[in-house]
Amino acid sequence: MTASTQMQSVDAIAELARIWKRYEGDPEGAVRAITETASKALKTARASVWLLAEDASEMTCVDLYDAGEQRHSSGVVLKAVDFPAYFAAMLEEETIAAEDAHTDARTSEFSASYLTPLGIGSMLDAPIRTGLRLVGVLCHEHIGGPRVWGLGERKDAAFLASLASLTLELKNRAMREALLAATLESTGEGILASDDTRVLAFNQRFLDMWKLDAKSMRSFEGVRSYIAARTSLSGLVSQANEAFAGEAGETIDVLELDDGRVFERSSRPQLMGKQVVGRVWSFRDITAQRRAEAALRASEAKMRDLAIRDGLTGLFNRRHVLELLDDAIARALVVGERVSVGLVDLDHFKKINDELGHLVGDAVLRDFGQQLSARFRASDHVGRYGGEEFLVVLRGANTAAALRIFEELRTGFRTREYGELPRYTFSVGVAELGMDGADATELLARADVRLYEAKRLGRDRTVGR
Ligand code: GH3
Ligand code: MG
Ligand code: MG
Repeated sequence: MTASTQMQSVDAIAELARIWKRYEGDPEGAVRAITETASKALKTARASVWLLAEDASEMTCVDLYDAGEQRHSSGVVLKAVDFPAYFAAMLEEETIAAEDAHTDARTSEFSASYLTPLGIGSMLDAPIRTGLRLVGVLCHEHIGGPRVWGLGERKDAAFLASLASLTLELKNRAMREALLAATLESTGEGILASDDTRVLAFNQRFLDMWKLDAKSMRSFEGVRSYIAARTSLSGLVSQANEAFAGEAGETIDVLELDDGRVFERSSRPQLMGKQVVGRVWSFRDITAQRRAEAALRASEAKMRDLAIRDGLTGLFNRRHVLELLDDAIARALVVGERVSVGLVDLDHFKKINDELGHLVGDAVLRDFGQQLSARFRASDHVGRYGGEEFLVVLRGANTAAALRIFEELRTGFRTREYGELPRYTFSVGVAELGMDGADATELLARADVRLYEAKRLGRDRTVGR
């Protein structure tokens, strides 16, 4: 090689290196630049980049530059079955420098069908690798007779092949990134990935959910405090806290936003091998689901309420207050607690209905329900037993205590405010577990007898023994 051709080769490669940045994001342009530079630097009529199929069964021409015609073309496919010696050599060797391509065992297969028609006499093929894997080959084809490929030329070829490798790698990465972006956008969840200091990725849904714009995603700390300022942790579905879950832990929790929305947040570490390299958060808007659940719970509670309460007075209904009496008796038998019952009946209630009307009668029933409820403890049970009859279950109270409470209430009725309502009175029969009966039926029967006795004695009184 003369000094001037050496110069030319260095110039062409130096020029490519200088403008290489221009091909960022333009892998096709980069490959064309490589073939042109290869042809110029090594003074070959043709230079081409070929891509090997994953299974090495064929290779496809990505770009071929013909210096004579100054034209690029692509698309030719060579199959390993047609050129076994060449493929074997390519997979095994570093660089195929076939000085006489017609006689070299590695390239002679091309002689009749390819080399002769094109007038090619010599070939220099440099492998293109990503990592250790052979992904293609950079071919230089010399038109004319045999040619000796100098060490400098082989090095240039190897350098250009490594540039091609970078280009292909970039192309792969661009494809992976496009695939990742498509995947990110295909989900209904808001996604945020970070390495704990930087935001690595996010999708449009994330921005929409949090009402953020892409500009505000520059600082991970900014995003983190933005979210923290707008949410409160309402429930942890799993793990105690992200901070306590350890960097390898997965967490799911529920965030309540200031604007009333509810997001389920799950977070998992992104591993590379065994190393945690970041964390991926996904946010799912569960507001509608939460609302539906709350409505369902409310209607369930309403149903339960309807099943145990009396519609007019809001007190427990007969069935439920009897259940509560059974429970209280069962408990009392275990813990040795006293239980008393008071069966209460309004006096001359029929008269109220008859003289003032049913609506006033109803108002009196509601009023009496309130008076009873207000008088007894939360641990006692007050229910509407029948039309104008009420049952009170007093826990932890003997006959004397029950009598005292009912008498206080009854005498209080003489001086209380009635408002729009007519004055009315009531009678009570009291019975105590153990003294008057061993179960609910016996207790209620005795209370009923005493209530009848109170009526017989003139009403507006309490009978307990
Ligand atoms: P006594 O002093 O002997 O208890 O006389 P009373 O009039 O209270 O007794 P009676 O059992 O004869 O009458 C009860 C009345 O209560 C009859 C019924 O029409 C009325 N009643 C029952 N349930 C309701 C209700 O839900 N609303 C109204 N307004 N009246 C009711
Ligand atoms: Mg009555
Ligand atoms: Mg009655």
